[in-house]
Amino acid sequence: MENKKTIQSVHADGSDGEKISANITTQSLLEEAVEIDTPKGIVNFLQKRNGTKFPYLTKHRYSVTDLVHCQRKSLYKQLGVNQEELLEDRSIEGMWSTVRGDFLHNMTYAYKWREIDMEYNVPLNDGREAMVIGRLDMYDWKTKTVMDLKSTKNVQWQIKKGFLPKLEHILQVQCYGTMFEQYIPIENLNIVYVDNSDIVTYNIQKHDLTNWIKTRIQEIENAVDDKQMINGEPSGLCQFCRYQTKCQGDGNGIEHTPMSAPKGGSDEKK
Ligand code: SF4
Repeated sequence: MENKKTIQSVHADGSDGEKISANITTQSLLEEAVEIDTPKGIVNFLQKRNGTKFPYLTKHRYSVTDLVHCQRKSLYKQLGVNQEELLEDRSIEGMWSTVRGDFLHNMTYAYKWREIDMEYNVPLNDGREAMVIGRLDMYDWKTKTVMDLKSTKNVQWQIKKGFLPKLEHILQVQCYGTMFEQYIPIENLNIVYVDNSDIVTYNIQKHDLTNWIKTRIQEIENAVDDKQMINGEPSGLCQFCRYQTKCQGDGNGIEHTPMSAPKGGSDEKK
């Protein structure tokens, strides 16, 4: 019966305060707490940190990066084509470049609203739905600004040469604007380019890309259903693509010697 005392507040030491409601007791508070499964996001985080491999579901699921980069590459993912090994995977330079990118990514801590995930449903012609997964790097709720962070090399040099801002980065941040607008107010889209010595920010015009996203996905889904190969969209990013040998074999794609090869040297086809 001791637990049935009504309370006003429960102190850290467990002692009860004065009564404020006949309906609230320490016992009822304890009974209201129900144990549930560990939230999926936490489990995924722990699995990633522990290197536990779990299959990433790709069927009808796309990242925003999949949409703005080579469509053939997205098709290979949808088809479950085995990824190849990048020939420079183990070079010190390659590893440092990845780690440096991770360090620079810590810049996202500049805002409390960071790394916000979202799933965006896209209706397909046959009544099914595809899903686009997006993650905002940073969001400034005071100015209602979405910011996408891009760590790269030689920012100023790339700007002078006209390599930055890249079209795919512009489309990417505009996709975020389109996808997230139904959940958070968005007035500005920014791309923030950083290297070891410079930060350069671009303000990007907002455009509703709803139809563009749907068309882009529908074309890939059609290619899967019709067993058609989509032409590659060769760019400087091909060197990081893990389907280069396969792409060269399929024609109308990569234009340089493949820098990735099937794992173990075998000719893996799917
Ligand atoms: S190698 Fe280039 S063109 Fe071919 S699938 Fe990869 S990104 Fe696309």
